[in-house]
Amino acid sequence: MEPRERLKIQRQKMPAQDSGVRITNFQEVNYGYTPKMAMLEAQRCLLCKKPLCVAGCPVNIDIPSFISLIAEGKFTEAAKKIKESNSLPAICGRVCPQEEQCEGVCVVGNKGVSVAIGHLERFAADWERTNGEISTPEKHTPIGKKIAIVGSGPSGLTVASELVKMGYAVTIFEALHTPGGVLVYGIPEFRLPKDIVNSEIDYLRKLGVEIVTNFVVGKTMTIDDLIKSGYDAVFVGSGAGLPVFMNVSGENLNGVYSANEYLTRTNLMKAYVFPEYDTPIAKAKNVAVIGGGNTAMDAVRTAKRFGAEHAYLIYRRSWEEMPARLEERHHAREEGIEFTFLTAPVRIIGDENGWVQGIECIKMELGDPDASGRRKPVPIKGSEFVIDVELVVVAVGNGANPLIPISTPDIQTNKWGNIIVKEGETVTTKNGVFAGGDIVRGGATVILAMGDGKKAAQEINTYLMEKIDNKQ
Ligand SMILES: Cc1cc2nc3c(=O)[nH]c(=O)nc-3n(C[C@H](O)[C@H](O)[C@H](O)COP(=O)(O)OP(=O)(O)OC[C@H]3O[C@@H](n4cnc5c(N)ncnc54)[C@H](O)[C@@H]3O)c2cc1C
Ligand code: SF4
Repeated sequence: MEPRERLKIQRQKMPAQDSGVRITNFQEVNYGYTPKMAMLEAQRCLLCKKPLCVAGCPVNIDIPSFISLIAEGKFTEAAKKIKESNSLPAICGRVCPQEEQCEGVCVVGNKGVSVAIGHLERFAADWERTNGEISTPEKHTPIGKKIAIVGSGPSGLTVASELVKMGYAVTIFEALHTPGGVLVYGIPEFRLPKDIVNSEIDYLRKLGVEIVTNFVVGKTMTIDDLIKSGYDAVFVGSGAGLPVFMNVSGENLNGVYSANEYLTRTNLMKAYVFPEYDTPIAKAKNVAVIGGGNTAMDAVRTAKRFGAEHAYLIYRRSWEEMPARLEERHHAREEGIEFTFLTAPVRIIGDENGWVQGIECIKMELGDPDASGRRKPVPIKGSEFVIDVELVVVAVGNGANPLIPISTPDIQTNKWGNIIVKEGETVTTKNGVFAGGDIVRGGATVILAMGDGKKAAQEINTYLMEKIDNKQ
């Protein structure tokens, strides 16, 4: 097909649950492409000689190759092609901020609307999973070295899959009772069904990765204990799970949650499948969620699904500066989330019994750009006002999990508690210990955590190979 003809094809819209219905359930919002839609969308790709999309992908998936396989109807082969660079495609196809990465630089986007690379990635991965044709790559012969991984989020899962394929014996130690990190305890079912995460984790188990849950490194055993017990190298992917609050008065009232607790109760402790799981969670008619990232968006859409008549998203900047994925912002708007822009909380107001009854806010205006490159919000004097709410969820960011640095003092951290690594690498200040993902970067993205995981696997391999060479 000529490029001119390809450019005439409209981007295929993702079929989704009706917004009025989906706010009454926790089932996935997007239905996924049909094979016909996927093949048509794939034909929009110009198969560029210099595919900018590949450079835009943090793990450099061979995007034109997998898309052309979809165009030919070779769906399983397409999934295999993606898995050469990305072991969690069904997850990335659903949660990556594609508009800022591959799709943001897609050449078709210069002339119209970019190719739906994320939707196609999801299609190929789902096809492979639901058609029972999941293949496992050939493994290297065992090297006879053991690696310990702290945390089973996307960074840990990626290091594990890369190293096990190279022939290492890999054990993941996870503090919680279920592996997956934020993918299971943070991102809700309506965006990322747990079955999908579980099946990708099963795939790692099939590859030979051992996963030990309910094991808190730093308490059950320290990193030094692990090394003494025979692990040749350690990767720390313990994430940014520490809740951050705003430090305004009233944050200790009943009815104030950190987003972390609110989402963990909902997702991992299955409050959303009441009454099968009787997990206590506060539900209210009027809810305020503070923040503008993916976490805030997930929390406010959860509150809506728990029956809130008014679910306010209070954000101190505007739509343009919001860090949440664009698709989620659109979905939230369709679901009736009340965006309250250029607004910052001043205090939370309680009733005589210590329960939240309102939140006092102040209006903001945007000043000059700050260190993040976004325009800095500045309070407008005398513009305070109160919103009546009975529940407040604070989603203004996450801090580094502190346990590993505390229990391993020779791993250096910066002033925010993030582990310091060598510039552009995953090497920490402690010999044989590597780190990546949110514990190094602060709250970032799934694909960046996975990119760190891939890099760490290479660096661990080089480190151990050099050790072996030096012994000979
Ligand atoms: C609600 C929410 C929504 C998000 N939405 C998106 C999105 O749509 N797209 C996107 O790209 N990114 C999103 N993110 C960010 C993304 O999920 C993270 O950047 C990513 O998960 C980081 O991966 P990680 O491997 O570093 O750590 P995590 O996923 O945080 O996993 C760390 C794991 O380590 C475990 N752990 C911690 N300490 C220990 C210990 N001492 N011993 C043993 N185990 C330990 C934790 O229990 C956890 O399971 C979201 C984040 C949140 C919170
Ligand atoms: S940049 Fe866009 S059109 Fe070009 S190969 Fe990548 S997806 Fe296809």
